[in-house]
Amino acid sequence: MRTAVQNLEASKIREVANAGLGRDNVLAFWFGEGDEVTPESVRRAAIESIERGETFYAHNLGLPELREAIAAYASALHGPVHASRIAVTSGGVSALMLAVQALVDAGDEVVAVTPVWPNLTAQPAILGAQVRCVPLQPQDGAWQLDLQALLNAITPTTRLLIVNAPNNPTGWTLTRAQQEAILAHCRRTGTWILADEVYERLYYEDSATGCAPSFLDIAAPEDRLVVAHSFSKSFLMTGWRLGWLVMPPALVDAMGKLIEFNTSCTSVFTQRAGLAALAQAEEITPRVVAHLRRCRDTLLPLLAAVPGVQVQSPPGGMYAFFRLAGFDDSLQVAKRLVAEAGLGLAPGNAFAPEAQGWLRWCFASREPARLEEGVRRLRAWLVAQG
Ligand code: PLP
Repeated sequence: MRTAVQNLEASKIREVANAGLGRDNVLAFWFGEGDEVTPESVRRAAIESIERGETFYAHNLGLPELREAIAAYASALHGPVHASRIAVTSGGVSALMLAVQALVDAGDEVVAVTPVWPNLTAQPAILGAQVRCVPLQPQDGAWQLDLQALLNAITPTTRLLIVNAPNNPTGWTLTRAQQEAILAHCRRTGTWILADEVYERLYYEDSATGCAPSFLDIAAPEDRLVVAHSFSKSFLMTGWRLGWLVMPPALVDAMGKLIEFNTSCTSVFTQRAGLAALAQAEEITPRVVAHLRRCRDTLLPLLAAVPGVQVQSPPGGMYAFFRLAGFDDSLQVAKRLVAEAGLGLAPGNAFAPEAQGWLRWCFASREPARLEEGVRRLRAWLVAQG
């Protein structure tokens, strides 16, 4: 087995979930998904596609009509994006892996802003790249970018910058000014940017489009920029494995070949579901976001009032990332909370070694009362610790 593969760490989030799965009465908030099923009309589109017999291999880069629909959706949010720059992928995970495969050689230097969802640093590591992390700085429960530290870390030898904003787990988002500075710097150094914007619509601040600032708003089509997207979060479609990426024209042919050798294509009936989702995007997504906002506004004040908890309301995403004073081993405390309080959270050090003592709580819950019960359990457990 390759050393890079041997060295892969098991997922700490999985480790906690495995300790809790099968236990009765655990309130699970460890994974990045809610408990609401995909809208009925989207499910029906897939069923009808299967019934029509759409069960064959399809285009590498995606159904032309879905690429067109994604381009129209992206253009409405960010200004003109041509369909030829879109590849349909089997989830955001696949979009990210394809981008990394296209851009990174073994031994290359990759810079990643952390804490971040572990796949984003694992994927270049699997290919043998060296990942250098630039940590966000925690300030009173919120996380801030030291822009100069990031720019200093990106040199002409840096092949790729990976940045996820709105960020999983912290909710941190990039400002437009920061994006402009990063793009200008990467143009100078010749560094590619891989922007993971799967949470772009899960944004709670004021904005004209309801979207977090995106690199697509400011970049030219030819810029060395790949943006990864997903149907999972904004359309309640985690299990479908449907995503897309936007890339410069120069990458399109190579991406088609990479998809051929990875998955060949995404199943047609899944893509039909994607088309149905996009046709109703402005009904589904605002409803999802309004509900998530209610969940966030239910959980955050309750959590912030727990003695020892340091947290701030996240501007984006679907997670509360919080520090628990007096508990420095995130994995151990997450496992104890499962076993002793029936509360399932993700350990902070899954996202960055420096986030020891932090925990991530996914607040996407159909019943906000589950969030209230979760906080009650956390409080009771803390009281029992004395
Ligand atoms: N990027 C980030 C930051 C995520 O948190 C996730 C899922 O949790 C993904 C990408 C991938 O999503 P999917 O593969 O379900 O599209």
